[in-house]
Amino acid sequence: MEKKIFDLAVIGSGPGGYVAAIKASQMGLKVCLIEKGLLGGTCLNVGCIPTKTLLANAHVMHKITHAAEYGIVTGPVTFDYGKMKARKDSVIDKIRKSLEGLILSNGITILRGQAEFLSPREIKVRGQDNAIVQAEKTIIATGSEPLDIPAFPCDHKKVFNSTSILELTTLPKTLAVIGGGYIGCEFASLFSDLGVKVIILEALPSIVMLQGKTVAESLTRAFVKKGIEIQTGVMVEGIDHLDSGLSVRLKDKPAIACDMALVSIGRKIISSGLGIEKAGIALGEKGMITVNEKMETSVPGIYAIGDVTGKYMLAHVASHQGIIAAANAAGQPSRMHYNAVPAVIFTNPEIATVGLTLEQAQEAGYDAAIGKFPFQALGKSVASIETEGFAQIIVDRKNGQILGAQVVGNEASTLIAEMGIAIANELTIDCVTDTIHAHPTVAEAWLEAALMANDTPIHFPPKVKK
Ligand SMILES: Cc1cc2nc3c(=O)[nH]c(=O)nc-3n(C[C@H](O)[C@H](O)[C@H](O)COP(=O)(O)OP(=O)(O)OC[C@H]3O[C@@H](n4cnc5c(N)ncnc54)[C@H](O)[C@@H]3O)c2cc1C
Repeated sequence: MEKKIFDLAVIGSGPGGYVAAIKASQMGLKVCLIEKGLLGGTCLNVGCIPTKTLLANAHVMHKITHAAEYGIVTGPVTFDYGKMKARKDSVIDKIRKSLEGLILSNGITILRGQAEFLSPREIKVRGQDNAIVQAEKTIIATGSEPLDIPAFPCDHKKVFNSTSILELTTLPKTLAVIGGGYIGCEFASLFSDLGVKVIILEALPSIVMLQGKTVAESLTRAFVKKGIEIQTGVMVEGIDHLDSGLSVRLKDKPAIACDMALVSIGRKIISSGLGIEKAGIALGEKGMITVNEKMETSVPGIYAIGDVTGKYMLAHVASHQGIIAAANAAGQPSRMHYNAVPAVIFTNPEIATVGLTLEQAQEAGYDAAIGKFPFQALGKSVASIETEGFAQIIVDRKNGQILGAQVVGNEASTLIAEMGIAIANELTIDCVTDTIHAHPTVAEAWLEAALMANDTPIHFPPKVKK
């Protein structure tokens, strides 16, 4: 096998790997990017981009079905899900081609094949390209894949995971979504807006539990309003295939009849088949590669980033970790901080969070206050009939520092950026109230929420003094 020598080998071309490769190349390293599947990884091919493309279709459908509220008269509206799926595929293809061009324009060598360590400094690549890569440094960015449960395996015909459900070309009448985390809820929102009867089955006491109580309650209300059935605290024991469809068996509860089911109960780390043991890299629980804040593994010169580290399992975290790992590999010391990680759930309504929830702030010992402003009281939201939800800021009463923020509603995914900058730079609510916010915009919600945290609201009635 041909031997190829690089300063840095990056394994996996998802948002972690390709970003790390570009950064390292910019810093002067000779880099190769090894990919066994499609360039762009989970995020581009079966994650962020396909789901958001399909959700954009559902968003248009939702707007059209509510057009009468804007004085627009429409006739009967139908859609062709096959065409929606085809648009999703073409979006991915287009972005993948640009990504390849971007990687090559940065002088990075792409090697297509499965990477396996032979030693800490040698990697065998087998596939379309076959080579022994010799590299002083390596960044592992091998990501994760859907978790399959033996009790109810996916047949990808009626029982799907988050990858195979993207291949549907016609919609079922009823869909059971097993798992009410963010991926399950995004699919539930998508299919419900396209007229599918959706039933979410969640083992925990609430859907999207990790986002805090107010957010979880708000999304539950919005979902119930749009006709999604939510059963929490239920354990799925199995799925029976009947002539008429599926029967989802629940522990101590009646079974659920549906046409199809989506199993979305978590992700499995991809660290096996990589020859990790030959490189001597230490693994944590569930196969996660253990890293420090410089993204270094237990072996000097080998870094790991993204989902394989089991930290946040978000594309932008993988990319940021990639920048940190690449800088360290190139000899510029850098550390990863996780205090201001934004997370977005692209449901309708959208949810976005950054920093601490009120409960987390109180648990951490802060004397925390909350400023919560409803979109119902905001001119732009009323004008565009997008009044569902709220923006709230969690503040340290002692010094006014912003500890966290959550927003539910239209444009939440864009709005959260302002609070990300505020938290990452340890700003106080005065910084927000002293900043002129353009009118009329939904971003004014932050100004109002900050004023409310101070008990000095302008566009909201003052608290009644006793
Ligand atoms: C349905 C869904 C929706 C999502 N939506 C969002 C979202 O809206 N926002 C967000 O931030 N995150 C989202 N995510 C999560 C996001 O996709 C992941 O966090 C992100 O892709 C992780 O990036 P990564 O670089 O660590 O790994 P991945 O993107 O998983 O890429 C890993 C790559 O490594 C390759 N690989 C693995 N082993 C080898 C090997 N031995 N040799 C060569 N190549 C190998 C794989 O083929 C793959 O291409 C979503 C995920 C899913 C499933």
